[in-house]
Amino acid sequence: MQGEMQKMLSGNIDRNERGHLTFAGHDTVALAEQYGTPLYLMDETRLRENCRLYRDAFRRCFGENAQVLYASKAAAFRQIYRIMAEEGMGVDTVSAGEIRTALSAGFPAEQIYFHGNCKTDADIRCAVENRIGCFVVDNVEELLALNAEAGKAGIRQKILLRVTPGIDPHTYAAVNTGCVDSKFGAAIETGQAMEFVREALAQPNLELRGLHCHVGSQVFGEDVYLRTIDIMVPFLAEIREKLGCTLPELNLGGGYGVRYTADDEQIDIPARIAEVAAHLKAKSAELDFPLPRFLMEPGRSIVADAGMTLYTVGTVKRIPGYKNYVAIDGGMGDNPRFALYESRYTVYHAENREEPETAFDLVGRYCESGDIVQPAVSLPDSIRRGDIVAVCTTGAYNYSMASNYNRIPRPPVVMLTPEGSYIAVRRETLDDLTALDL
Ligand SMILES: *Cc1c(COP(=O)(O)O)cnc(C)c1O
Repeated sequence: MQGEMQKMLSGNIDRNERGHLTFAGHDTVALAEQYGTPLYLMDETRLRENCRLYRDAFRRCFGENAQVLYASKAAAFRQIYRIMAEEGMGVDTVSAGEIRTALSAGFPAEQIYFHGNCKTDADIRCAVENRIGCFVVDNVEELLALNAEAGKAGIRQKILLRVTPGIDPHTYAAVNTGCVDSKFGAAIETGQAMEFVREALAQPNLELRGLHCHVGSQVFGEDVYLRTIDIMVPFLAEIREKLGCTLPELNLGGGYGVRYTADDEQIDIPARIAEVAAHLKAKSAELDFPLPRFLMEPGRSIVADAGMTLYTVGTVKRIPGYKNYVAIDGGMGDNPRFALYESRYTVYHAENREEPETAFDLVGRYCESGDIVQPAVSLPDSIRRGDIVAVCTTGAYNYSMASNYNRIPRPPVVMLTPEGSYIAVRRETLDDLTALDL
């Protein structure tokens, strides 16, 4: 507890004079009482600051010849898209549902990029009809289907092609997407990417703007993007040489890592972007290739540390000689990330009890033994039913991955501002759960 008092995980987390945990300056115990639990909180100030970190660095390094796209699969609801529009961000989407959410929030269609390795005909039609800005085409089947649909609509659709540079960023296998054997994109190494470019250039209703690659998520390694540039820029030059076409855009995907625990490094995003920009400029100059319009697609690093989840303790179970459990009123339905990737999290007790701590597995209420939010977390020994606990850094891939498993309603999303708080997504009700049943 002393260590905790000295340094909380993130600058937007603190303790007030009552010893209560605060998030974005708000008392979490009071928020839990006002809105109920489980409760997703989002620090709007931090969210906007994270956008500006990228946007300002892009402007410094590239002027207007660049764009930051928020990868909205990290957290997608109308208010996020409104905030992204206000912050001058573009957005990545991966489904008709995300596109509909963005458009219904007034997000400009031309700033929407559409991803996915298996877009359906309905997805493609929806995106074309709504005139979204750019498709990131994954494969030849999609290329042909999109060309046909664009022809029917009488438009020339802008596209990027997704290629795999064959880079292993050494993150968790399930979030590693840049290898030759990935399900995403066409591999440069096998020659399939060059064929893909050739096919794309032959489609009359498509305008090939450039290339996309995404090497993985939660990337910390210094040189991952630099190595990617070392493959992508020579490939752009090879396309120019072989096919006589100078592609003007390069999208390096998403992925700076965030701090889930005190052991994780704090990445200096503007400094990293400056390195990437310098390297891209040098590599382009070396090959006498015009500096491409530069795009990146951060998701996690925009929203993760803007989020926190509050829960109420329901059960404390001690099995002498084995293990202690604290069970809460949420779990894998609102945060499946430990079950999926063994993701680490920092957990705090919302009231500050000055007393010895014990290791507990923080588990959920869902009917799976794998429903663990975080194993072996330190919590006050006297923790009991009714106490509030906070799981930090839950802004990314929590709400967006939430399910109704066990027919448990999903929590609301409450936004925190310096002036107060407001509901961005209301709590699901039991009536919502049966609304689709005939
Ligand atoms: C998931 C994803 C991102 C975002 O990754 P983060 O780790 O959340 O920044 C960006 N681009 C693509 C293609 C993705 O699949």
